[in-house]
Amino acid sequence: MMTLGILGGGQLARMLCLDARRMGVRTVVWSGTPTAEPTEGVADILIKRNFDDAEAHGEFCRQVDVATVEFENIPLETLKSVEAAVGLYPSAESIGISQHRSREKTFLKDHGIPCAPFALVNSIAELEAAYAEIGPTTVLKTAAFGYDGKGQVKITSAEQLKTAWESVQGEPSVLEGFVDFQCEVSVLVARGFDGRCLAFPVAENEHRNHILDLTIVPARVSAETLAEAEATAIRLAGELDYRGLLAVEFFVEKSGRVVVNEMAPRPHNSGHYTMNGCVTSQFEQQLRSVCGLPLGSAELLSDTVMVNLLGDMWNPDLQVDEIHATEGAKLHLYGKSSPGERRKLGHVNVVGGKDVEARARHLKGKLLS
Ligand code: AMP
Repeated sequence: MMTLGILGGGQLARMLCLDARRMGVRTVVWSGTPTAEPTEGVADILIKRNFDDAEAHGEFCRQVDVATVEFENIPLETLKSVEAAVGLYPSAESIGISQHRSREKTFLKDHGIPCAPFALVNSIAELEAAYAEIGPTTVLKTAAFGYDGKGQVKITSAEQLKTAWESVQGEPSVLEGFVDFQCEVSVLVARGFDGRCLAFPVAENEHRNHILDLTIVPARVSAETLAEAEATAIRLAGELDYRGLLAVEFFVEKSGRVVVNEMAPRPHNSGHYTMNGCVTSQFEQQLRSVCGLPLGSAELLSDTVMVNLLGDMWNPDLQVDEIHATEGAKLHLYGKSSPGERRKLGHVNVVGGKDVEARARHLKGKLLS
């Protein structure tokens, strides 16, 4: 029996473990934290120790045949030593690129992949110079460890530069041109050991307070835009010489042209729709690509809308009935017991029939009320 090692113990690891168990693959999760509720009782072995713990490193590597990650913010030294010991997919190099906005943006630019205009800024003077080039409407983002809109500030006039710089606490940052988009879409691609690459159907994403709220599939954009997003994601995976699952987020400009916002070297919240909407889930596909199995079909079985369950709209005692009473609603919970406002506690996929969006929006309205 094959054993898959997973770095990180959150909900993405949980859902990967569940698919692995179904497929007869053992899992060892190294959470990097003292608690890892989502993978408790789901991983075959759970190591709840920091990523710089040498003993944990030995225990993890001794037991696994190959390793992958469920999030990118893992110390590069840990990634490299796991890679050397057992093999890591995606590679430490690919993960390292997406750990840092400046490395990611530079990679995109160097490989001719469209993204918003940007400049790397390390001081207020550099920020002022970059703003003069890219302004007037821009977004300043810290280069490291940003997600869900954290470490981001919109700047629309030169007077705001000083306050913006203070708000990122002088951290190395990226100033980006603001994209006046018609919508945001994402593409998940898997690239196997033989270089074969398969894209899942393009997903359209709506955010609430900078956090993903709804994913609608198929995305409601032109056939040209769908093809361009898919081709760009596949090209990016090729340029990275990637193996594993890659998520690519795009802005769709008013013209229909796509520009890459960011990428993630792992399954993605916007790919949860695949769990009920596609022949193969994104987690099964990650497992297949990492473990050297043939990729599964990414065909869409049903129009699907995914609703994220955030801490501010989820009270299991009151609301579970609403979900079960909604036709075609499939509930996925992450086993988290302390609901923070912005915490992702689970999601619902609404499938079957042509009115999935109406059913999903109705359900969301009920959950928020
Ligand atoms: P990020 O964490 O970079 O994915 O940003 C979170 C959200 O902020 C995105 O999904 C967009 O809705 C918005 N955003 C970020 N960067 C830009 C940009 N350059 N132009 C327009 N909107 C942006």
